[in-house]
Amino acid sequence: MLEGKVALVTGSTDGIGFAVARVLAREKADIVMNGFGDPAVVQARREEIEREFGVRVLHVPANLTIPAEAVQLVHAAQEAFGHVDILVNNAGTQHKSPVEEQPPERWDEVLALNLSAPFHTIRTALPAMRTRGWGRIVNVASIYGLTGGYNRSSYVASKHGLVGLTKAVALETANSAVTCNAVCPGDVSTRIFYKTAKDLALRENISREEAITRVAASNMPSGRAISPEQVAELVGYLCSPAAAEIRGAAMSIDGGWLAR
Ligand code: NAD
Repeated sequence: MLEGKVALVTGSTDGIGFAVARVLAREKADIVMNGFGDPAVVQARREEIEREFGVRVLHVPANLTIPAEAVQLVHAAQEAFGHVDILVNNAGTQHKSPVEEQPPERWDEVLALNLSAPFHTIRTALPAMRTRGWGRIVNVASIYGLTGGYNRSSYVASKHGLVGLTKAVALETANSAVTCNAVCPGDVSTRIFYKTAKDLALRENISREEAITRVAASNMPSGRAISPEQVAELVGYLCSPAAAEIRGAAMSIDGGWLAR
């Protein structure tokens, strides 16, 4: 499906981003990975994708809270592989505390990574997508891009902003073969989810399974966490020919969270 395409996935050394990189590689896109982590683990993951799917994989460890590094990441990908056809803005962070206790420097960091970095990667990657006549931009927002939440004001604001940026870019590209969409996951079973469940199990002296169900059910009628692979498949769909006229959508994948 994506043979000959190059996909840049930010924050893809772990979690949802790594699952997205695997799905796009399975569809034969060459991959530019980004993100931090133990160098040996990152190298092993890079080689795993290369070996399993027979595509080229490059890792660029840009710090996306710094605008110049976000721009440089796109340039590095273009220089290495010639072009960037798919841009997945996935790297993200959050700070949990009431608004009056949010340290201003953490607010700035959350906004820098979750909202400004996608602005910088999009503005850098889009001109060549337009010239080549094809492109897919997928922003990994969150259910908190569509609804509020307690004690995470910077996260909620940044993800609402990212959904807004998605719509704005989708309109500016609407008469082209470049699309821009967002995915909005509920609770995904990444390490943070399991840590929250583990803490609850210890605190309340309940089993791991019961803690997982309770954490998931606190927001999602399904009572189950969403897997990184399920989010990745939705991103893969948005990169497929079938999704060519999906523009400016903010697709929730949330176990029924918003349907309540
Ligand atoms: P994660 O913490 O497992 O992975 C984050 C990735 O971003 C890692 O590769 C990390 O190295 C990278 N990263 C962190 N800071 C960076 C920086 N300054 N520059 C470059 N890379 C950086 O995260 P995740 O849970 O997989 O989340 C991925 C995205 O999905 C985020 O945008 C998050 O807001 C969103 N999301 C997550 C959930 C969830 O439940 N996990 C739910 C909804 C939305």
